[in-house]
Amino acid sequence: MVVPVYNEEAGIDELMRRIETVCATQYPGDYEILLVNDGSSDSSWSHICRHADTKPQIVGINLSRNHGHQLALAAGLEHVRGRLVFVLDADLQDPPELLGAMAAKIAEGADVVYGQRTARAGETAFKRGTAALFYRFLQTMTDVAIPRDTGDFRLMTRRVVEQLKAMPERYRFVRGMVSWIGFRQVAVPYERDARFAGQTNYPLRKMIGLAVDAVTSFSTVPLRFASHLGMAFGLLGMLALGWVGWGWLSGEAVQGWASLAALILIIGSVQLMVLGVFGEYLGRMYMETKNRPLFIVDEIRSQVANAEGANPVHEMERTLQQTYRRAAP
Ligand code: UDP
Ligand code: MG
Repeated sequence: MVVPVYNEEAGIDELMRRIETVCATQYPGDYEILLVNDGSSDSSWSHICRHADTKPQIVGINLSRNHGHQLALAAGLEHVRGRLVFVLDADLQDPPELLGAMAAKIAEGADVVYGQRTARAGETAFKRGTAALFYRFLQTMTDVAIPRDTGDFRLMTRRVVEQLKAMPERYRFVRGMVSWIGFRQVAVPYERDARFAGQTNYPLRKMIGLAVDAVTSFSTVPLRFASHLGMAFGLLGMLALGWVGWGWLSGEAVQGWASLAALILIIGSVQLMVLGVFGEYLGRMYMETKNRPLFIVDEIRSQVANAEGANPVHEMERTLQQTYRRAAP
């Protein structure tokens, strides 16, 4: 089981209680719970350590800083050893008790069983609305059929996880990558609960006020500026269009000027917008070519790792030191 954790101190004990019950029922003695601490600024990591110290089945991975949900997930998948891998959020929005139903589908021959939300409790209308729009929009934009209303809540076979690990990209949208991999994928419908504790860790945060050096070497925001400019000019163009239309109707304008002005404004804004889109892709290519590690592990906490001797976690840590990231193709 892989659980990314970011500032979830208030919910960890309840999370552990529920997932341990599920694991012990479903796979008695034969499971591993990997809690990936994604640079939490609260006491999540010490809670994780406390749990990891009680049972050999519980392993804590501490990332060097906040890498983001999708990369924390990548870190977990890189380390997890199970024949089946179950991914869920730390906030108990996705009920771990669904593991049994998902495992049954795997037994019927599926490689991926994803949870599909039929209802979402405790989330704002804005979040539900934008999420619904997003999944529908995404569907029209891609050739890969990415199922609607799913998260990263899913059960996967080892061969799917191996394929995921072989995909070295930095801008990760794991649920889309899983769809891309293929094999037999089936849905299990469920109702998404409200968070057990805490607040969502997905605000639209923006990096502002960084020094120009930092921005240009670590960010592609300046490239995005062109598309924002394009949109602003597009709006202005619309307003100007109304104004020139009025001038034309009232007969104050020189013949032909109105349509000409409108065209120049609109075409100019469209060109900037297109440039902005190019910039988005170019910026991502730039970041990908840097070939930096996807994540950096600070510490692996596990009872097994603490005992000397034949020790898979130690071994894992050694390989990790050598190859933080798989070689790019
Ligand atoms: N998370 C993470 N790193 C982040 C943000 C979130 O590992 O930078 C984890 C978080 O602890 C949770 C999961 O990702 O387990 C989903 O986040 P959240 O519940 O805040 O998102 P929402 O469900 O509101 O979309
Ligand atoms: Mg959540």
